[in-house]
Amino acid sequence: MQQYDIAIVGGGMVGLSAALAIRAVADLRVAVIEPKPITELSAEPCLRVSAINDASENLLRQLGVWSLITQQRHQAYRHMHVWDKDGIGKLDFSVADGPHLSKEKNDIGHIIENDVIRKALWHKVEQDSGIELINDTITNMAMGESEVFISLAKQGALLSKLLVAADGANSWVRQQLELPLTFRDYDHHAIVATVNVEHGHQDTAWQVFLDTGPLALLPLFERNSCSIVWSLPPEQAAQMMALDPAEFDKRISAASDGKLGLVTLSSERVSFPLTMRLNRSFVKQRAIFIGDAAHTIHPLAGQGVNLGFVDVAAFAQTLEAILQDNAELNDNKAWQKFSRWRKSDAVEMMAAMEAIKQGFAMQAKLPKFIRGIGMSMLNQIKPLKQLMLKHAMGQRSDLPPLCHYKQDL
Ligand SMILES: Cc1cc2nc3c(=O)[nH]c(=O)nc-3n(C[C@H](O)[C@H](O)[C@H](O)COP(=O)(O)OP(=O)(O)OC[C@H]3O[C@@H](n4cnc5c(N)ncnc54)[C@H](O)[C@@H]3O)c2cc1C
Repeated sequence: MQQYDIAIVGGGMVGLSAALAIRAVADLRVAVIEPKPITELSAEPCLRVSAINDASENLLRQLGVWSLITQQRHQAYRHMHVWDKDGIGKLDFSVADGPHLSKEKNDIGHIIENDVIRKALWHKVEQDSGIELINDTITNMAMGESEVFISLAKQGALLSKLLVAADGANSWVRQQLELPLTFRDYDHHAIVATVNVEHGHQDTAWQVFLDTGPLALLPLFERNSCSIVWSLPPEQAAQMMALDPAEFDKRISAASDGKLGLVTLSSERVSFPLTMRLNRSFVKQRAIFIGDAAHTIHPLAGQGVNLGFVDVAAFAQTLEAILQDNAELNDNKAWQKFSRWRKSDAVEMMAAMEAIKQGFAMQAKLPKFIRGIGMSMLNQIKPLKQLMLKHAMGQRSDLPPLCHYKQDL
């Protein structure tokens, strides 16, 4: 039976980056169990994209995949324009408003298709002889005295000293270990699609707050293409999904106040129910939870995978400390500390999402004139804007070393 130091369940963006991060800090044998291999990228942009912040970019640089990503498809954004539908309130951010940076930086972040990131990570993992990519699904596991016994659907079984659960929002590992979960329906569904925008995206991430929820238009690698994330109460999302494309185009052009000209669908639409999930702990026995397997948040500030990437870097930092101390890989004290750290970060992020969501819901009840004045006043306060931008860019002093800037490997 194959034996590994660490088995990662799930080869999404978080699981694959965790494999590389482990190898960046330790010469350990790693397995990644993932049933869905990568496929060729289609010529059209993929529907799922992520706004990748500075901390995540730094991690991807240190893992040696950033250049693989930028050789493919990505779009830097240099401005953010946030406004209140039909009101006078707006917030404008530009890279020039940003905090002092440790490098020459000419963007706030990048919009990248999830499949582009995953493909780059996958190729890098394939090149590492210390990582085995196992095309399979975990079907059973048992926690032993010194190892975890893992059964696979097709390829028998394996043993590992530590298990990393990176198997997404509906984590099989979490269910199997009966790990308690705080769970709340956001009462929003997100409609995701690719659209053409008449006036081009202008290197800007656009977000309008409607009475029903936010609509984001995120710039893609083609100048006239954006990815939309439109969060709506479930019944209204269902109605929008049922509209014929021409009617949908009219609604989205109107919702975006014509700021990007006519907006027309160039892909199918898909809709996701949005749920907040938070594991009570990020550790149970020999299993460590990261990414969406540990937490899911509202996409309105585009921070979900960014939070997952910090989990990855924090995991690597904890592992390195354990090895330096010559402790057991499943050193409970170290992983409990990791769990508290990551959970408090996730809680902070969830609170911020809630404040934005509730803030706008409350504001929606105020007369438009008054809420417009509030937003416009905020737009004038430079230090506050800088602080908000710093958060959006993932610039914090307490980040793990793998999230610090270094030249590409
Ligand atoms: C509409 C929307 C927009 C978003 N926009 C942003 C954004 O702009 N910025 C941002 O930071 N985040 C964003 N997010 C969040 C982001 O998409 C997620 O946080 C991220 O995809 C999670 O990655 P992951 O690797 O943890 O999980 P996943 O991508 O779900 O990967 C889990 C992997 O585990 C595998 N798996 C599952 N079960 C098993 C099993 N039993 N055995 C083996 N493998 C298994 C799956 O095949 C999958 O590959 C958005 C989310 C939504 C819904």
